[in-house]
Amino acid sequence: MPRSPDDILAADRKTVWHPYASFINAPPVFPVQSASGVKLKLADGRELIDGMSSWWCAIHGYNHPRLNEAVHVQLASMSHVMFGGLTHEPAVRLAGRLADITPAPLQCVFFADSGSVAVEVAIKMAIQYQAALGRADRRKLLTIRGGYHGDTLGAMSVCDPVTGMHDLFRPVLPEHYFADRPSVRFGEKWDASDAAPFERLLAAHADDIAAVILEPIVQGAGGMWFYHPEYLRNVRALCDRHGVLLIADEIATGFGRTGRLFACEHAGIAPDILCLGKALTGGYMTLAATLTTRAVAEAISAGGRGAFMHGPTFMANPLACATASASVDLLLEQPWQARIVALESGLRAGLEPCRAMRDVADVRVLGAIGVVELNRPVDMVRAPEEFVRRNVWVRPFGRLIYVMPPYIIDTADLATLCAAIRDVVASGIVTAQ
Ligand SMILES: *Cc1c(COP(=O)(O)O)cnc(C)c1O
Repeated sequence: MPRSPDDILAADRKTVWHPYASFINAPPVFPVQSASGVKLKLADGRELIDGMSSWWCAIHGYNHPRLNEAVHVQLASMSHVMFGGLTHEPAVRLAGRLADITPAPLQCVFFADSGSVAVEVAIKMAIQYQAALGRADRRKLLTIRGGYHGDTLGAMSVCDPVTGMHDLFRPVLPEHYFADRPSVRFGEKWDASDAAPFERLLAAHADDIAAVILEPIVQGAGGMWFYHPEYLRNVRALCDRHGVLLIADEIATGFGRTGRLFACEHAGIAPDILCLGKALTGGYMTLAATLTTRAVAEAISAGGRGAFMHGPTFMANPLACATASASVDLLLEQPWQARIVALESGLRAGLEPCRAMRDVADVRVLGAIGVVELNRPVDMVRAPEEFVRRNVWVRPFGRLIYVMPPYIIDTADLATLCAAIRDVVASGIVTAQ
């Protein structure tokens, strides 16, 4: 039964809780009726150019014929079976493909059902690996400030203590080590002192650290910060020196977003454990994967338990795996790198004028990610409304207005998206007084 936009909103208010939102004093939400290409069609008929790719996911845009077909074909044979004791072609094919396209040493694939779970899996792998080597005291993690790794308890414990949105839970979270956020930006001249705090912290505590976990090159939801690849090369070398594993969380950066297929490639390094999610299925459904090396997988498997102790109910969901393979095929068969270069220059040209505006602290662009950082927090009630009024979908966060549009966005729509951001920033209406 078709409902009017007002009916949907009323029903939403009554029973639905939205992410990071109050239930009783809920911020505005906009009912979406359908989505196609780079456009979200609202229930009231308005069409918005999508600047968010539904939180990094919808890299090919919405309602893509190839991904739709992959879902239909898979649906006709099997939508889901348990993964304990069974296997299937969609999982095997996707695992092989991921092992092929990620940095060479990563050859073992563990499927999970969301990014946060992939991070939990990575942390458990690292702890189980150290225990298998007789180093059970190595249970802590080292990370860098400004990071975001998800909302579950283990993932929360390595999110930035300030911007990570989880300070309320601090007392129940395990305590880990936090090094300063890298200060040398991507594209700036490298300064070797930038990695010194990390080096000191790791050297001081290596005996109780199982792994370093970080987002390579681009820190996402914890502050949208782009740092120098040399920092990552230093981290890799220091992890090797101290027998500590390196976990790269590429849940946001994976599948081309930063201009390389995986952000680790900017530094030419391979992590010991890699987390993927978000764009893995092209935004069609939830799926994540934690990849590791044969050395780590063999050590865990030869250890006391003889098995890795994790297994989600919806592990390797066939519909999601088939869609993910189709999404990877679709990405790699097109000149995606040239596309990202074009988006990068479009975002740069479109957002750079914001730098001179009132309340703007910084403008930065890398790959298909554009960020305008303000001096004050964005008004989270008015800002979305102002963007919707300009027929674009942009969801600011804290002091950040940022976009990571679907790769298929054309020049005109990208220009409209950037113009809306300039307009909203210039009007000065977005910052709370
Ligand atoms: C989104 C994100 C996660 C969490 O993924 P969910 O699917 O939301 O659980 C973890 N790490 C990074 C870097 C992310 O961007």
